[in-house]
Amino acid sequence: MFSGAEFDNLPAVDMHIHTVHCGHCSAEMTLPNIVHRAERLGLKQIAVTDHVWNEQQLAMLDVLEQEFEVVEPQITVRLGAEVDVDPRHGDGRLIEQIRPCFRPLIIATHAYPQSTLMWYDDGHVSRRTKRSLLKKWFRWVTAAVRRENVDVLAHPGVLLSREGPELRFEAEILDRFTDLFGVMRAHGVAFEINEQVKFKLLGPQQLDTYHNLPALAAELGVKFSVGSDSHQLAQIGQLHWASRIARRAGLQAADFRLYKGCGLVKRPAKA
Ligand SMILES: [Zn+2]
Ligand SMILES: [Zn+2]
Repeated sequence: MFSGAEFDNLPAVDMHIHTVHCGHCSAEMTLPNIVHRAERLGLKQIAVTDHVWNEQQLAMLDVLEQEFEVVEPQITVRLGAEVDVDPRHGDGRLIEQIRPCFRPLIIATHAYPQSTLMWYDDGHVSRRTKRSLLKKWFRWVTAAVRRENVDVLAHPGVLLSREGPELRFEAEILDRFTDLFGVMRAHGVAFEINEQVKFKLLGPQQLDTYHNLPALAAELGVKFSVGSDSHQLAQIGQLHWASRIARRAGLQAADFRLYKGCGLVKRPAKA
């Protein structure tokens, strides 16, 4: 067990956790178990942010909301969502269907725009096709972060990383992100330092240069969020790689903008 202050450059929080309702978590990921685990670890705040890929999954948020009502945590617990910028439409309209009480609202892209290709589908398309999909990706995500109530962009760069194993987060790749980060700053959308990115990048060249992405975002005035993207209890609060990336990007705890607005939130009862 560790205390939440283990990562001296991160706030003692975990703002990206999934539940058993998403269909690909371990069965132990119930709301009470998640809260209990986070309390034991000494975290001060967590956000439960389950996947919404399509309209059918909106009903799951209602189920979670009911479960959330009876939780009595000893730490601050928020009920948010990780909503996909729906690849069928490419304009992020699914985001607007999430009720504004689910905060933080994290937006993510797990598939290429107007395509059924997922981020892990390597080797099925030519590099040229991927390049054109990525051009679309920047247009698509830039439009999505402008939508109302968006708080965080999940795991930036993961889709881009699949363009080819030799790609590094340097030079022209960073140029591509400059406009997007400008829009994120203007709309108050945070860059998420996500622990699971360490498993998704392709090889040491990408792992060794990924910190350039948050460093550029920080330089452009973007704020940060941090999450384990847990799908198992043991992953909650495990932010070792995130802490290392934040350090290499020159970030400090004050660079993280925790969602503070209204929404579904439970705070510890005063003694
Ligand atoms: Zn995700
Ligand atoms: Zn996630």
